[in-house]
Parts: sequence; C-alpha cells; structure tokens
Amino acid sequence: MADFPDDETCLVWLWNTRYNLGDNEAHCARCEEIRPFKRYAAKQQRQDWTCTACGLHVHPTAGTIFHKSSTSLHLWFYAMYLMTSTRCGISAKQLERELGVTYKTAWRMFTLIRHELKGQDDDPPLAGVVEMDETYVGGKPRA
Ligand SMILES: [Zn+2]
Repeated sequence: MADFPDDETCLVWLWNTRYNLGDNEAHCARCEEIRPFKRYAAKQQRQDWTCTACGLHVHPTAGTIFHKSSTSLHLWFYAMYLMTSTRCGISAKQLERELGVTYKTAWRMFTLIRHELKGQDDDPPLAGVVEMDETYVGGKPRA
C-alpha cells in the first residue's frame, strides 16, 4: 500500500518496468528506434505514452492480464501481493473479501494471476523427485 498507493503509481511502474529505458525514452515499434515518449495532458490523465516522433501510443498494460480490465490496477497489484506473500496461499473467496469485489471477479483475477505465475516458471510441473511435508497417506489395512 505504501509502494503502490493508487492506480497512477501502478501504471507508471508498468511503464518504467516494461518500456522506459531512462528519461522516458523507449523503443518505438513503428520508428524501430529508441525515441523520447511523452504523456500528453488531457481532461483525464491519459493512460498511454506517445512517441514524440511518429505519434505511436504505447499502453503499459498491453499484453498483460490487466489490459482492458474493468478492475483497477491498484486492486490487481494488491491481489498479486496477497497471492504471493501469504505462506500457504490464498483462496478466491479470501480475495473476494480482501478486495471487496464479487466472487466472479475475484475468481477470474485469481485464475489469471495463477496462470501467469505458472507460465513464468521454466520448470515443468512436478518433475523429478517430488517431496511433500505433513502428509500421511494410508494406514492400517482394515481387517
Ligand atoms: Zn515512433
């Protein structure tokens, strides 16, 4: 909450992390060169950065699970924090309560975040030696 207090902070963080090479210069896909980008003022703060040479708009959420979501970036970031910081994980039901969204929205966010995390892992799921703690399977056979 201190690092990402609102949507704007989250959006700028995405821009800086994904595109900004420093001093708001980024690789422009249309110019095929590194160009200065600018965020033009409008009635509502614009959600995209514009190439000052060719006018190409770059939206920092493009190609991410947040793109065109009606849920605020701030809530997405909070959901990711909750899902990755709790030791034993968190359920969609808990997300629903924490974020104050509907269960349907919470479940959708939960699934997309989990899928995205899984996709970033290079290791195949459950390959090689699999160890598990605190599990007891079986027992005395019944007579
Ligand atoms: Zn350009």
